[in-house]
Amino acid sequence: MTLSYDPPKVAIPGTARLSFEPLKYVNQLSDAQPVRLAGTDCIVKPHVPLAAFTSFRVGGPAQWYVAPKQITELQASFEWAQSHDLSVTLLGAGSNLLISDRGLPGLVMSTRRLRQTQFDPELGQVTVGAGDPLPRLAWSAADRGWKGMEWAVGIPGTVGGAVVMNAGAHGGCVADYLVQARVLLPNGTTKVLTAQDLRYRYRTSALQGSNWLVTQATFQLQPGFDPVALTELTSQHHQHRRTTQPYHLPSCGSVFRNPIGYKAGWLIEQVGLKGYQIGNAQIAERHANFILNCGNAMAGDIFRLIRHAQQQVEQHWSLHLEPEVRILGDFQAVGI
Ligand SMILES: Cc1cc2nc3c(=O)[nH]c(=O)nc-3n(C[C@H](O)[C@H](O)[C@H](O)COP(=O)(O)OP(=O)(O)OC[C@H]3O[C@@H](n4cnc5c(N)ncnc54)[C@H](O)[C@@H]3O)c2cc1C
Repeated sequence: MTLSYDPPKVAIPGTARLSFEPLKYVNQLSDAQPVRLAGTDCIVKPHVPLAAFTSFRVGGPAQWYVAPKQITELQASFEWAQSHDLSVTLLGAGSNLLISDRGLPGLVMSTRRLRQTQFDPELGQVTVGAGDPLPRLAWSAADRGWKGMEWAVGIPGTVGGAVVMNAGAHGGCVADYLVQARVLLPNGTTKVLTAQDLRYRYRTSALQGSNWLVTQATFQLQPGFDPVALTELTSQHHQHRRTTQPYHLPSCGSVFRNPIGYKAGWLIEQVGLKGYQIGNAQIAERHANFILNCGNAMAGDIFRLIRHAQQQVEQHWSLHLEPEVRILGDFQAVGI
C-alpha cells in the first residue's frame, strides 16, 4: 500500500519549519471565540496554551485547539480546518514534541480523549484507543497475564503516538506487536494499516510527517502467563528507568536517535556536555541524551541546546545526531 503525504517542510533534519508570520495569527485571534462544530458537542477553542500538553512543559499557544472523543468529531474537526484553510497538527500526550515559544498556527487536534480498550481472549489481541496511555496498557495486560507489553511501562505517551513513533524500550517496540492500526484521513475516510504498511524502522514509521490520524491500534499478545510474574517484570522495567533516567524534571525522553553503532548519550557525554545549560534547559547529568526543563525554560533554550550538542558531536566525531523529538513551529527567532 502506498501512503500519500504532505510534502515535508523540513529545513534541518527533524526540524519542521512551518511558513507563517510569527505571532501575527495570535494577534488576529484576540477576538476569536470558541466554535461548536456542527452536529457535535465538540468545541474548537482559540488561542490555547500548549505547554501544559507537552512533557517538556514549553511551547506557545495553538491558534485553534480541539480534543474530539469520537470519529464523527474527528471528521468534523478535519472538515472545519479544511473549510477555514487551516493546517492541522496532531497531538498525543506531547511526550516527544518540542513546540516553538511562538506556538502553532492552524488547528491542533489532540487525540487524548480517544479511549477504549478491548481484550479479545480468542485471538489474544488487544485493541486500544489512540488516546489511551501506553503505560496503562502495559500494566493492564500484565495484570491479566497477557505477555508482550512489559517494555512499554516507562514510555509516557499515548498508543497513537507510540504507533507513529515506533516507540520501544527494553528490547521491545511497537513494530514487534502491532497487528494493525486504524487511521482517519483528512478527507474523512478510514483505512486499516498493517505493521508492514507502516514501514517500521528504528523509532520511525511511514506515518511521521503525514496528517493521517491513528484512531486505534491492535496488538498481538500472549495470554495465559502468570499475572504476578508479568507484573513483577513490568515493575522491574519501571524501576530500572526511574533509577537510570532523569524522570524528576520535564523532558521528552531521548532527544536524539542513536546513530548506528553508537549511543547518542555517550557521544554527548564524551564532548563534555553533561550538565551544560542554556537558559533553564540543561543536558542531564544522569543521562546525556536527555534535556531537562529545570524551571521556566523556553523552547528556544532547548532548541539551542539541541543545535549545540549536534555541532559539538559533529565537530568531534563527524557524526550527525538526528533528533528523535519532533520539533514543531517557528524557531527562526532563535537565530541559529
Ligand atoms: C521521560 C520520558 C521517557 C521516554 N522514554 C521513551 C522510550 O523509552 N522509548 C521511546 O520510544 N520513547 C520514549 N519517550 C518519547 C515518547 O514518550 C514516545 O515517542 C511516545 O511514543 C510519544 O507519544 P505521544 O502520545 O506523547 O506523542 P506526541 O509526542 O504527542 O507526538 C509524537 C508524534 O506523533 C504524532 N501523533 C501523536 N498521536 C498521533 C495519532 N493518534 N495519530 C497520528 N499522529 C499522532 C504527532 O503529530 C507527533 O508527530 C519518552 C518520553 C519521556 C518524556
